[in-house]
Parts: sequence; structure tokens; C-alpha cells
Amino acid sequence: MDLKNNIKGFQNKLKDKDCTLVAVSKTKPEEVIMEAYNEGLRVFGENKIQELVTKYESLPKDIEWHMIGHLQRNKVKYIASFIGLIHSIDSLKLLKEVDKQAAKHDRVIPCLLQMHIAEESTKFGLSAEELKVLLASEEFATMEHIKIVGLMGMATNTDNTDQVRREFADLKSLFSGIQSEYQNDKVQMSALSMGMSGDFEIALEEGSNMIRVGSAIFGARNYN
Ligand SMILES: *Cc1c(COP(=O)(O)O)cnc(C)c1O
Repeated sequence: MDLKNNIKGFQNKLKDKDCTLVAVSKTKPEEVIMEAYNEGLRVFGENKIQELVTKYESLPKDIEWHMIGHLQRNKVKYIASFIGLIHSIDSLKLLKEVDKQAAKHDRVIPCLLQMHIAEESTKFGLSAEELKVLLASEEFATMEHIKIVGLMGMATNTDNTDQVRREFADLKSLFSGIQSEYQNDKVQMSALSMGMSGDFEIALEEGSNMIRVGSAIFGARNYN
């Protein structure tokens, strides 16, 4: 596993593209994150609150931390002071809690709405209908400490690349639709977070501008 080469590879691939690389560092120790930091990476994604907070506290303060995993409402308070982007907003209730906690820190927290695009029923996310209901709701209109800056989605975990491509294309078209319908002070669609180690090439071809890459940078994860 050559971290340096992996990172160089991504930097080259993305060089002429308008695409943010989120290095997914979950389960990886701080010294490995520092190696990636020293290669120039500044945006890291985590999916567990305790791990995210611990890493935030001990690593350089110019790192932009993204929460990419399922977020429980009672945990929002631990990250509200510093989180750079939350990818995984999947309900109005959760958004309301982010708004409330962000207010305590006098911040506006940028958020992505996580869309359900995969076939599996286990994956979190909103349907296109739920997304529109959320954006049109009166409650959403009163929130002053969040901003919706884009959408996130995870494709089905399958070898069927046609299906993956179709799911990403659907998300992109939803994104473009919202972009033209809803731009206002609270909805500024700019980030389309789709693509991971196994499917980022397809995601980029289908219009992703933010990829979340873990194992292709850091190697396989060991959850023990
Ligand atoms: C773990 C994770 C990733 C990265 O997965 P890899 O296959 O290791 O690149 C991306 N997005 C989310 C939401 C994740 O939980």
C-alpha cells in the first residue's frame, strides 16, 4: 500500500477537474492521516462521531472535516462547532437539530441532503418527493443556521456498471433540477457528492464534483 502514490494518482486524475476529493479516513490512525495531510490533502471524511471529534481535537486545525455517515440527532452537538460539511442529512428533524446546534456557535453549517438512489432498502436517504417536501416546508423556511449546498448519494453495491451509472445519472438530473428551481439564500446547490473507491470513475463521468474515497487511498479497512 503506497499512500503517496495513491494520493498522487488522485491528484493527477482530478487536476483538470472541478472536483473535491474527500479522503475517507474512518478507522485509520492519526499518523496515517498526517501522512496524507503532508501530501497536501486537507478534506477528510469520517462516519463515527467519537472518532471524528478525537481526530479533530488532535490534528491540524486547517483540516476540513466532513461527516459522511448516518448522523443521530443526539450527536449533532458534538460536531456543531467545527464540522465543515455534513453529507448525510436525511430528515427535516435532523436538519432542525443541526440548525439549533449551529445557532449556539453562531455558525451556518453547510449540509448536503442524502438521497436514496440505490436498490438496497438498507441505505439511508430521501426520495425525490421527500426532498421537495422538505425544501418547501415552512419549518425549513425558518432555519437560519444551515445551508443546503448540494446532494449526496450512494449507488447500489453491484458489479452491474450500467445500473450504477443509471443511479448516478438520476441523481445528477435531480441535482440539476433543484439547482434551477430552488436557488435562494438557503439553497445553493453546488456540490454533488457521489462516487467512492469502487465507482468514482463512473460518478465523475456522470457529473460528480465531490468524491468520497477511502480504501483506494488508504488501503482496506480493518474494523477489529
Ligand atoms: C466508507 C465510505 C466511503 C468510502 O468508501 P471506500 O469504498 O473505501 O472508498 C464513502 N462514502 C461513505 C458514505 C462511506 O461510509
